[in-house]
Amino acid sequence: MSGGARRRSVPVRVGRVTIGGDHPVVVQSMTNTATADVEATALQVRALAAAGSEIVRITVNTEEAAAAVPAIAARLRELGTDVPLVGDFHFNGHKLLREHPACAEALAKYRINPGNVGRGSKRDPQFAEMIEIACRHGKPVRIGVNWGSLDQDLLTRLMDENSKSAQPLDANDVVREALVVSARESAARAEDIGLPHDRIVISCKVSGVQDLIAVYRNIAARCDFPLHLGLTEAGMGSKGIVASTAAMSVLLQEGIGDTIRVSLTPDPGGDRTREVVVAQEILQTMGLRSFTPMVVACPGCGRTTSTYFQELAQKIQSHLRQRMPEWRRLYPGVEEMTVAVMGCVVNGPGESKHANIGISLPGTGERPVAPVYIDGEKGPTRKGERIAEEFQQLVEQYVERTYSAGGTA
Ligand code: SF4
Repeated sequence: MSGGARRRSVPVRVGRVTIGGDHPVVVQSMTNTATADVEATALQVRALAAAGSEIVRITVNTEEAAAAVPAIAARLRELGTDVPLVGDFHFNGHKLLREHPACAEALAKYRINPGNVGRGSKRDPQFAEMIEIACRHGKPVRIGVNWGSLDQDLLTRLMDENSKSAQPLDANDVVREALVVSARESAARAEDIGLPHDRIVISCKVSGVQDLIAVYRNIAARCDFPLHLGLTEAGMGSKGIVASTAAMSVLLQEGIGDTIRVSLTPDPGGDRTREVVVAQEILQTMGLRSFTPMVVACPGCGRTTSTYFQELAQKIQSHLRQRMPEWRRLYPGVEEMTVAVMGCVVNGPGESKHANIGISLPGTGERPVAPVYIDGEKGPTRKGERIAEEFQQLVEQYVERTYSAGGTA
């Protein structure tokens, strides 16, 4: 594993998962079903957990949603999924948690946005009530500050102070500072109310890459709470993936971030689990964690006249993902395997030799044979119509031979 030295943070237990300390960076996600719909929410939580989400957050925004939480937890137990559930509260969280103790108990953590707990004189008592409920139920809390819902009283105060300062900051820097101050002051207030130091996680989410990097560097240096990292409202498709990766990888490389969420907007009817796969891929390609064997594939060029090798790469990647639930149980270490699928002789043999197992397909004008490389050595050669199936079989045999207990890995 590589990357910069990890920032020291206090570990926080969230159900059976620990965030922070020496624990690996945790992948989390959030549902987009109506929480009041028990079956749809439970099924989506299960899908997210099966894809690798180690914590799943659900919105708890109405009486019906709060009433549904214990039923969702029960349904998940029936489905054999024990992923910790986090409740996302805004505006009425104090009331929902007070009136639905079974919901407060079923959740493994509460996310509280200090900008959305109430205005004016209502803010402090409503925040205090949520923290008191967390203390009573022994639950941790994420103080989740968000740029889109920043505490306006606090921002006004900091803007006023800044305007009187001898060297005023520009307005954007004051907003960045306000995010950090909001998180720190709210965490300090929570501790004063009685929430133990090791039950607090912090986040300060913004939607701009440079803002996120600046804000998290700042908060990371000024507290030892574990940090939940994520670019809020990252967007759709490749833009959302690229922006999240650009921001988070800089911070993760500096050892900042104890749990991540990739906030992708799915395409209409798209798969919500995509955000989990992207989060895992960020961590795995950075060498911070391993989740599933990775396929190394060349982009193809004029030397390949068909899409055959692209299809093979895709087939192999889906096969590896599909096999992981069983492989994870039977073959420890298999998640670190690399499989190369290359389009021609130029880089094919070299890249295949670097992988655990690789295949170099024939390019235009090459002999129609595909040599396979295993642990850097030339192995069997494949040809004909069934190259994909036969290579898949070779991968299966390699996994069984190399990663079963007593294997050589
Ligand atoms: S390995 Fe061959 S097919 Fe693939 S990109 Fe390189 S030259 Fe093109």
